[in-house]
Amino acid sequence: MKVFYESDADLGVLDGKTIAVAGYGNQGRAQALNIRDSGVTVLVGNIEDTYAETARQDGFSPVSIADAVKTADVVMLLVPDEVQQAVYQKDIAPHLRAGQTLSFASGYNIHFGLIEPPADIDVIMMAPRTIGRQVRIAFESGGGVNADVDVWQNATGKAWETTLALAKGTGCTRAGAFHSSFATEAELDLFAEQAVWPALFDVLLTGYEILAANGYPKEAIALELYASAEPADIFLAMARRGFFEQMRYHSPTSQYGTLSRRRDATGSSEELRKRMEATLENIRSGRFAKEWKQEELEGYPNFKRLRQAAWSHPINEADRAVRLLLGASK
Ligand code: NDP
Repeated sequence: MKVFYESDADLGVLDGKTIAVAGYGNQGRAQALNIRDSGVTVLVGNIEDTYAETARQDGFSPVSIADAVKTADVVMLLVPDEVQQAVYQKDIAPHLRAGQTLSFASGYNIHFGLIEPPADIDVIMMAPRTIGRQVRIAFESGGGVNADVDVWQNATGKAWETTLALAKGTGCTRAGAFHSSFATEAELDLFAEQAVWPALFDVLLTGYEILAANGYPKEAIALELYASAEPADIFLAMARRGFFEQMRYHSPTSQYGTLSRRRDATGSSEELRKRMEATLENIRSGRFAKEWKQEELEGYPNFKRLRQAAWSHPINEADRAVRLLLGASK
């Protein structure tokens, strides 16, 4: 895979241009602040609410998304994926001009055909690989986060220059911007969210339930499983040293326990493989995108029910208890 770094990108291509950031949320705020700090003109588009108030406190003068699109040369669409189609149809499409750039932080809406931009604009992706908060923190400390970048449509012939300049302005070429594709970015992201993280959640939650049922104190269970932040340290070491290499930081007892039980920890690894393959197929066929669209149209009934169930699980009690203890000691 080609990876782009600082010397591959020229911020000068954005000189005299206005970048509209549509949606001042997790990614919107971080990217707007970073790009402005890189010396580029940024205009925030958002409705009048608390997000707009935050933008004002950050020194921006937010306008409506429609007005931002009318003024801008580049539009960064940074509202949540599930509302992008509606926002695009209402506030963006009617105001697009030939030669503008429409930038996405996820391949989702383009890859699954929910947004079909006109042929005379550039369509690009600059998708940071981590949460917005970290996009900002890394930039402020002189670093950056990785991103996936791609060009879907190159109407002007200059779409790559614009993509790399946005990646540089956001700080992503400091860490490395990977030439991915809209399809790969969208499908991998959904697979991690729907096959990998749910399995880990299920394992942690089942572990919690078994230990609680066996009489261990809830605070001790939470601390052991995640509240000490040990999992975060393990994942960080995995990123820095390698998937198995990080095991060298653990005791031989721990290494032996993990390696000897890995294959049968979740019952049948064949069953897990089959389920993950089915999840991948559901994503690649577009069936998940249709299901999620239907949820949006019906006012998110299942999503609301699932979130309610998650927030009423007894593990939330353990969280409150362990945070109280940790807060008292630090
Ligand atoms: P957020 O949920 O943080 O976005 C909130 C913003 O979207 C607010 O400005 C909000 O403004 C606006 N918004 C929400 N609903 C609507 C609506 N119906 N009409 C108009 N504006 C709306 O989004 P994220 O930052 O999480 O995601 C933005 C993009 O970044 C997505 O494409 C996502 O896939 C991508 N991304 C996200 C990552 C993350 O970690 N969060 C990581 C990498 C990429 P208001 O409610 O005031 O209208």
